[in-house]
Amino acid sequence: MTFNTTLEGIKTYEAGKPIELVVREFGIASSDIIKLASNENPKGCSPKVQEAVRHMISKMALYPDDSMFALKRALASRFDVNDNELIIGAGSDQIIEFLIHAKANNNTKVLMSAVTFAMYEIYARHVGAEVIRTPSYEHRFDEFYAAYQTYKPGIIFICTPNNPTGDAVDREALYQFLKKIDSDTLVVVDGAYMEYAAFKDPTKAVVPKELIGRFANVIYLGTFSKAYGLGGMRVGYGIAGENIIAALYKLRPPFNITTLSLEAATVALRDNAFVEESVAECFDEMKHFETFAARAGIEAIPSYTNFVTLQLHKEQNSSDLAFALLKKGIIVRDLSSYGLNAIRVTIGTPEQNRRFFEQFTTVL
Ligand SMILES: *Cc1c(COP(=O)(O)O)cnc(C)c1O
Repeated sequence: MTFNTTLEGIKTYEAGKPIELVVREFGIASSDIIKLASNENPKGCSPKVQEAVRHMISKMALYPDDSMFALKRALASRFDVNDNELIIGAGSDQIIEFLIHAKANNNTKVLMSAVTFAMYEIYARHVGAEVIRTPSYEHRFDEFYAAYQTYKPGIIFICTPNNPTGDAVDREALYQFLKKIDSDTLVVVDGAYMEYAAFKDPTKAVVPKELIGRFANVIYLGTFSKAYGLGGMRVGYGIAGENIIAALYKLRPPFNITTLSLEAATVALRDNAFVEESVAECFDEMKHFETFAARAGIEAIPSYTNFVTLQLHKEQNSSDLAFALLKKGIIVRDLSSYGLNAIRVTIGTPEQNRRFFEQFTTVL
């Protein structure tokens, strides 16, 4: 069987290993395994969400509300935008897929940072688009602008804060950059970790309403998978001018969000206290990672997210280290496939983090 040649160079996305796989492969009891690999909220989600989802169980026989009325209302009021400036996806991943399919083809160039979220490249390659990367792993707007002038990309991805490095751009610098980009270049501002950045440093906080009000060619992406603790429910959203949203709607399959997921996200959005507490606790714990890394002589990239990326010494090997930790029941993300000798560790509960420090010291 032959398939589209565009699939040939694509590496299958490597998701964080699930706990069940480590149970099967290493015979470790699931209670002894901690997963610090996918930037999930270690507190889980709001108890109010669990309660609300339980009440919706009886509705499973019916198709979901395809207008997504309640969640759209909740998002529209949270971000002070109109319903027609919103699209909801099965994770913001699905919206990235719509964006690529709406705008790119095999003549398009797609510009992104040297080290950034892997799905941008995977979706770009689906349609045969060419991926252009800036030299630096952090987002440097001088490099982005130079590449923009040279390559005239159809789409630019700005991931802020960036996954898997954790750094974030300044809002004003982003706006200055966007002013120089022509109106037919689609710029995607992926704010999957924006709740964290906004808490740590307000000068990094991108406000969707302001962003789309100033720039008609920009879409902002958010997700319920990280700070809201709903990775398993698969809900993300895009905020943009109505002509961008209308184009994406042509690609959306009907009923792309389940009834339970719609309910979970709607209720999660109302429990702001839960998110604020989660984010505050994350940064309290992050201090321990910074202290630990400093003592071990390892560079922790300053992070505006719920994870920290540890850059290892030359004599250490990130794949070996991640595997040694895995055998101890600790799942972290090896970043060797991104060209870094580094591991990415999600900030867990205080207890999980202590176990990570202990085991990391042992395997080093
Ligand atoms: C996690 C993540 C997403 C999307 O997550 P979904 O679960 O699909 O909503 C998007 N961008 C970045 C940078 C992420 O880390």
